[in-house]
Amino acid sequence: MADFDIAIIGGGINGAGIARDAAGRGLKVLLVEMNDLGSGTSSASTKLIHGGLRYLEHRAFRLVREALNEREVLLRMAPHVIRPMRFMLPPLPGLRAPLTLRLGLMLYDWLGARRLLPPARTIDLTHNVVGQPLQRSFRFGFEYSDCAVDDARLVVLTALDARERGADIRTHTKVVRTERREDWELVLNNRGHRQVATARVLVNAAGPWIGEVAETILRTPLPKPVRLIKGSHIVVRRRFEHDTGYILQAPDKRVVFALPFAGDFTMIGTTDEKFVGDLNAPAPDAREILYLCDVMNQYFRDKVTPDELVWSFSGVRALVDDGSDRPEDVTRDYELVLEEPFRVAPLLTVYGGKITTYRRLAEAAMTKIGTFFSTRPAWTADSHLPGGDFPAQDFYDQVAGTIARWPFLSEPQARRLVRAYGTRVEMILGEAQSIDDLGPQLTEDLTGAEVRYLVEQEWAETAEDVLWRRTKLGLKASPDERIAINRFIASLGAAEARAAR
Ligand code: FAD
Repeated sequence: MADFDIAIIGGGINGAGIARDAAGRGLKVLLVEMNDLGSGTSSASTKLIHGGLRYLEHRAFRLVREALNEREVLLRMAPHVIRPMRFMLPPLPGLRAPLTLRLGLMLYDWLGARRLLPPARTIDLTHNVVGQPLQRSFRFGFEYSDCAVDDARLVVLTALDARERGADIRTHTKVVRTERREDWELVLNNRGHRQVATARVLVNAAGPWIGEVAETILRTPLPKPVRLIKGSHIVVRRRFEHDTGYILQAPDKRVVFALPFAGDFTMIGTTDEKFVGDLNAPAPDAREILYLCDVMNQYFRDKVTPDELVWSFSGVRALVDDGSDRPEDVTRDYELVLEEPFRVAPLLTVYGGKITTYRRLAEAAMTKIGTFFSTRPAWTADSHLPGGDFPAQDFYDQVAGTIARWPFLSEPQARRLVRAYGTRVEMILGEAQSIDDLGPQLTEDLTGAEVRYLVEQEWAETAEDVLWRRTKLGLKASPDERIAINRFIASLGAAEARAAR
């Protein structure tokens, strides 16, 4: 008998989502991630839980409706790491007509089931704070709802829930070879240590690596061709003080978002480019950076220039190749292909998808592979991720409750902690009576207690894991602070002990 019912290659949002859903249905699950959780495309997204307004033009109604409906399901599931956001769409002369935009937003509102999110409306930009950073020629715009998410934390929380439901999650473990018989035999490399595991079903959820995994590790052709498309973002100092994001129409008919980011910053993206190069180090090129600056500068008074970037990052989508000419036209919908040749173990390959649809993708995966087992029914629609067990509209009550219990925290400190950990702040703050009880102050915002929690509970092993994927404090941390965090982690010894297990 195999060690596991299902083995999943890839600890991005899709692999983690399938692991959680399957574990919650009572299956024995192994999830293998070669680096840190969420270190691939799932930490390089625009960080929106959205229907995708632009996909309406592609008549992708199924995808848009499913994604719109997921917004509130996910918001209820993770009201800490997901938050409602309003978006401003200013019409630009010569592009889509205002009437077209307004009708599109009416359709967007109509397609999506909304209970918590307010509808679209027209805004007078001359008398609204949202109009202030824009050039004076923008006199009105359309405001609508979607949500923002901490993408990397969503992956970690999903994996955490999978583990708490019995899944075996192995980070820094690469699948290096497989043998396909009646069961799968997987050879794994965990920092030079060889491990072997067997499973009845294998899921290739390796994101942009699916082709490489198929060719070199599964030694079987991908069932459908994949199209790798790179998207890049830049981060600059804050261009506006409010919480509304901007969706900017670019002259090439694409859209670019300008979003409030990590308190003091504005994140701008994305591009759509054919990907070539090293999957382990995708990065924006000068042309993409200039493109994003140019789009911003058509709308904002305060010009953005390439020399003022505080951060930039790129991610690569692995989409089913539908033959579209332009990268931005390739469908963002997901596709799951199950191959079950006679007498050998089944293989499920995951293409595409969005952070927004990951829960539905996982359900669809279970519909396909659940037939090989007797499993419990679908369960994730009414569930909570760890720390998300409070009503979505009560976020600020949670913050107030946190300050009441730990009065030494400032409002921004409490808000950041509740955003990241929800009700699990308790596991970090415990019985602390003062900030000094939380261990060394590693950065202005980061305490030893938080890092200890991340190492012990959330698979963090380096300052990079802590600063870029478990928090976004990397934008403010100095090189000395990074060294201090790594020293502190080493002193805990937990990472080493876990690696040796
Ligand atoms: P990944 O996150 O890449 O995970 C695959 C994992 O497999 C990696 O962590 C990798 O290390 C691991 N792996 C590979 N090979 C092996 C091996 N041999 N052994 C073990 N592990 C292995 N979606 C939205 O809903 N909203 C957005 O705003 C949004 N914006 C986006 C912006 C950009 C620029 C891009 C590129 C995508 C965006 N998306 C968005 C889409 C979304 O980010 C992706 O669909 C999603 O992150 C894909 O997740 P994944 O799990 O399939 O892949």
